[in-house]
Amino acid sequence: MGWNLPLMPGKTRLVKPISCTSLALTLAAGDIAANIFGKKMRRARRVMGQEMARKDSFDIVIIGAGPAGLGFARALSGTGISIALVETQSQSVLEDPAEDGRDIALTHTSEKIMRDLGMWERIPADQIGTIRDAKVLNGPSPFALHFESKGSGADYLGRIVPNHLIRKSAYEVIKDQPNVTLICESEVTSVETDASGGNVGLKDGRQLQATLVIAADSRFSTTRRKMGLAASSLDFGRVVIVCEMTHELSHDDTAYECFHYEQTLAILPMFGNKSSVVVTLPSARADAVMQMGAAEFAADIARRFEGRLGAMKLVSKRHAYPLVGVLAKEFVTTRFALIGDAAVGMHPVTAHGYNLGLSGALLLAGEVRSALQNGRDIGDLTGLKSYEAAHKRAVLPLYHGTNALVRLYTDNSLPGRVLRDAALRLGSLLPPVKSRIQRQLTHIESHVR
Ligand SMILES: Cc1cc2nc3c(=O)[nH]c(=O)nc-3n(C[C@H](O)[C@H](O)[C@H](O)COP(=O)(O)OP(=O)(O)OC[C@H]3O[C@@H](n4cnc5c(N)ncnc54)[C@H](O)[C@@H]3O)c2cc1C
Repeated sequence: MGWNLPLMPGKTRLVKPISCTSLALTLAAGDIAANIFGKKMRRARRVMGQEMARKDSFDIVIIGAGPAGLGFARALSGTGISIALVETQSQSVLEDPAEDGRDIALTHTSEKIMRDLGMWERIPADQIGTIRDAKVLNGPSPFALHFESKGSGADYLGRIVPNHLIRKSAYEVIKDQPNVTLICESEVTSVETDASGGNVGLKDGRQLQATLVIAADSRFSTTRRKMGLAASSLDFGRVVIVCEMTHELSHDDTAYECFHYEQTLAILPMFGNKSSVVVTLPSARADAVMQMGAAEFAADIARRFEGRLGAMKLVSKRHAYPLVGVLAKEFVTTRFALIGDAAVGMHPVTAHGYNLGLSGALLLAGEVRSALQNGRDIGDLTGLKSYEAAHKRAVLPLYHGTNALVRLYTDNSLPGRVLRDAALRLGSLLPPVKSRIQRQLTHIESHVR
């Protein structure tokens, strides 16, 4: 990705980043030599490798080039801040990520951020679904909580975009960004920070020095653990199976969340007569549903959805994700911050994970920009704490509220069913409650203050 100019406090150096290709070539050359000269050579190479460990300096090292890490890097374009983005996957996977079954419901805020970051225009229009209405159903109860865009002041409640296209567009907007050095197929072996800076050790022996280290390495973040930041996790004992299905009848841009007693079914409207289907069920039953034949599975979903969409057909692979919610106790420490799922990994039922991650990434990028403009240290704990406080204000009610909702809607006891029904009636009858939920569906703005 060319040369870059790190802006460490007090020193400005020019470093030549090792691209994924040249790193691979270096390793390949080493392997050929080792084959020729045998064990002795291999030992010598190891010693040399230790002596020659490269020390590269950056302003920021981001660990994890998922949607949050990429979005954060993009939000710092044009600042001149040098960024190393370390990722375990290969560059070709980032260029063309495989479809992973997740179709992401986006708030208006996320759509706007994605437009501002140049990502939106890279997503093909015929891959963008629109949610105009949303209905929540409780078993066979006739009471549905109904959210409508009509009368809400907006044309629609949200959008639906496949996750792999979000990842692809996020990669495309940073790939030619001159301040970003991408280090792929790389494993982080150590992370340390102190008052003067951070140090990230890679498996190939390289040492990356930084003013600020960011972990964006998923809800199961190993960096978070290496940095000693505690997180609470909640295993729901359930699995979510996601896939795409076409259907005979139109979905009318309506999303459904159907709480049946044994499993939950969400149907999210995609472009045309296609929907994203999300089935949540106890882990013990997930394997059997994954093994079902495509036709049997499609007929089962159509039946559970009471034929509202007519005959249905499975048109993608099924993907299963274990449901574990994770919340880091602290999002920051000395010269270190967590973003995306590494800070908070949400249960997908309320579709907030990426929306929160994007908003949080923008919030932290705003702190970094502000420090830069005011001549302050970009890794200063005061700025990081300010990010943490603002992001937690958005995260905590959503995280705990979502978990409470999941508990309520997976409680199959009679009192649980009655309470659910009462909650839906209350939501329908009390406009302030309904409009508050509707606002959460359309906007998440931890970055707006
Ligand atoms: C079924 C499902 C449906 C969902 N639906 C929605 C929705 O409708 N709306 C919504 O807003 N959100 C939704 N989400 C949540 C959303 O997918 C996540 O919040 C989002 O992908 C998190 O992005 P991230 O970059 O933080 O983490 P990830 O996407 O997990 O990316 C982490 C990256 O870090 C890399 N990595 C990991 N460890 C290391 C390491 N040690 N060194 C270097 N790299 C590393 C990984 O390879 C990966 O590229 C859903 C999630 C699921 C599971």
